[in-house]
Amino acid sequence: MTHRFWRGIHLGLSHDSDVDRLVGELPALADMGLNVLMVEVNYGFAYESHPELRGPDPITHAGAARLVAACQARDIRLIPQFQCLGHQSWAKTTFPLLKVYPEFDETPGQFPDNEGIYCRSWCPQHPGVNPIIFALFDELLEAFEADGLHVGMDEVFLIGSEHCPRCKGHDPAALFARAVNDYHGYLVGERHVQMLMWGDRLLDGVATGYGLWEASENGTDPAIDMIPKDIVLCDWHYEVMERYPSIALFLDKGFPVLPGGWRSEAATHLLLDEALRHRDHPNMLGYLCTTWGHVGPGELVTFPPIRIALDALP
Ligand SMILES: [Zn+2]
Repeated sequence: MTHRFWRGIHLGLSHDSDVDRLVGELPALADMGLNVLMVEVNYGFAYESHPELRGPDPITHAGAARLVAACQARDIRLIPQFQCLGHQSWAKTTFPLLKVYPEFDETPGQFPDNEGIYCRSWCPQHPGVNPIIFALFDELLEAFEADGLHVGMDEVFLIGSEHCPRCKGHDPAALFARAVNDYHGYLVGERHVQMLMWGDRLLDGVATGYGLWEASENGTDPAIDMIPKDIVLCDWHYEVMERYPSIALFLDKGFPVLPGGWRSEAATHLLLDEALRHRDHPNMLGYLCTTWGHVGPGELVTFPPIRIALDALP
């Protein structure tokens, strides 16, 4: 049995101009071995079910179709991402869902200009949220002809807030698991596509030594035992560490694991080494190169960690 490793890149994508730059370098990336492309679209698509949630100059249906065609031509799996629960703002900018529907905010009316917080979260228990985001999921799956969706869910710090009338006093792990299970129920249960998410909130930041960014110190990690085991966990770690214990931990729990690194070449080598220690495990999927604006569409072939990873993977 051959095991086809995922040789992936993750990048933000929210304009047609960026789509076309990406399409332009896809043949070169495919020649380097790329076979999975995760595009974080979020509000950057010309949604028809909820046009009020479109970001500025969003990707059009025609733009998405150009990307689909380019990926299909080179046998690259295209997976769109819609960032759920956390990351609903960045610096002073609040993203469309909570701007248009401020009642969905986990901390409604708090933190003017987003001062004093990292990012806003939506409330996982507000009954109005899921019908809207599931409609957006549907549009992304259709436009990107995708058989999987990445729901994000990293770095959720605002959960079970004292400012939320529904969640105040609730267990953060149970709230986080509820959100995961809701999205899984829709994506896997109803739409029959694969669900992917970032893994950090499922890790104990103290026990693993990862700390409060790459893992959780806000009580969400027990959710690891409350969610289905067919979710692909994208296990991101960007710092140099002697070992990356989360890979074995997630595999032992029964999850498919896709380790992911960023810009440090030293950390990329070390995380790849850790991943390849498990190369014969059927749930070790491969490797994901994240970019986080360090390089953009059209510049990916020049990014050393991408060359390192695509060279290293069997
Ligand atoms: Zn809430």
